[in-house]
Amino acid sequence: MEVVQVAQYESDTSNEEFVEENYRINENEKLSKKKKLKKCWIKERTLDTAAEAEASILDQWSKYYTNHTENGRMVYYRCNKAKLRGPQCSVSIYLLYHADHDKVTIYKTEAEHDHHVDKVRGIDENVKKCIEELFNDGIMKPKQIIRALQARKKYGSHKISLGELEQRCENNKNIPTDENESFVVSYKILYNDEEYEDDEDVEDDGGNKFRIFISSVRLLGIISMSSHLCSDATYKLVWQGFPVLIIGTTDLNKAFHPFGLAICSNEKTKDFEFIFNCIQIGL
Ligand SMILES: [Zn+2]
Repeated sequence: MEVVQVAQYESDTSNEEFVEENYRINENEKLSKKKKLKKCWIKERTLDTAAEAEASILDQWSKYYTNHTENGRMVYYRCNKAKLRGPQCSVSIYLLYHADHDKVTIYKTEAEHDHHVDKVRGIDENVKKCIEELFNDGIMKPKQIIRALQARKKYGSHKISLGELEQRCENNKNIPTDENESFVVSYKILYNDEEYEDDEDVEDDGGNKFRIFISSVRLLGIISMSSHLCSDATYKLVWQGFPVLIIGTTDLNKAFHPFGLAICSNEKTKDFEFIFNCIQIGL
C-alpha cells in the first residue's frame, strides 16, 4: 500500500472559501489537539467514476469540507458515527477527484475508529417487536398496548417505589451547569399521612404521597419575566398513573411558555401550594 502525506492547507480557492475551510480544520484540530496533527493518509482504492466512488462510501461517511489542489478537488468525509458537533472520530477519508482524468481515488487515515457510540435511545428493540405483534393482533390503542405489555410481565416491574423515587430525586437535585438540563427543583415525599391530619378536605385515600417539580435553569429564567402563571394537569400524559402538571405562563402572542412540570400524587390545595413554592424557589 502506498502511503501519502498530504498538506491540508494547500488551497487555491477564493479567500472566503479558504477562510471557512481553515476555520473548520482548526476547529477539528482543536478538538483533537492531543492526537497527532498531521494525518497519515493511505490510498484505499481508485474507482472509474465519481458516482461509483460516492456510492461506495454512502453509509459510513458524511461530507465534511473540500480543498482544491493542483491534483484535483479533495472532498473530506468524517466518520458519521460521531456527531457533527463534538469530537470527531480519528478515522476520516477523502475523495480525490483527479484533475487530469475522471477517476476518483479514496484515501483513508491510518487510525482506529474512536468515535463515541451513543447509548440506545427510545423503546427497546425486543419491546418494539412485541408491540408490533400486538398491533398486528388488533391491539392498536396505546393504553391497550401498555396493559398488554404489563400483563406479559416480561420486562420487569415498571413501577417505582417511593424509596426509589426519593433516591432518584436526591440524585438529580443539583443544579446542572448546562442551563438546558433538567433537574429536580424541589420534591417532597410523605410516608403514611404525615401531613393531612388537619387538612380541611380530607377525602384521602391515606398512605403515601409525593410531589416533584422538575425544570431547567433556562425555563426557570422565564419566571422572572412573567406576570402570571397557568397550571393544568394532563390526564393523557401520565406518569405511573399520576397526572403530570404543566406550569407556565402565556405571552401577548397567546403562546404558552412552560416553567417546568410537576408530578403529584394528588391535585389538592397542598399540591398546588407545593408547586407555587417551587416557583418561588426557582426565582
Ligand atoms: Zn469512527
